[in-house]
Amino acid sequence: MSSRELHCEVCEGVQLFEAPPCVDDHGADCPELICTGCGAAVLIATFTFQAPRLSDRRRRPTEPHRRAA
Ligand SMILES: [Zn+2]
Ligand SMILES: [Zn+2]
Repeated sequence: MSSRELHCEVCEGVQLFEAPPCVDDHGADCPELICTGCGAAVLIATFTFQAPRLSDRRRRPTEPHRRAA
């Protein structure tokens, strides 16, 4: 599963963090983790990870108009 050990400032120590049920359709890329010790949610990734995908979509070469036969 997507769990990892991170330092929790609330617990003042290393705790096991697990990804919560994602409600934002991040899927496997969900940047959110919740401390299993205190339940505090943390964001482990910045939004920069989404940039490449967005730019990829935008950089698609404009497809020439095809006439349906
Ligand atoms: Zn998410
Ligand atoms: Zn905690």
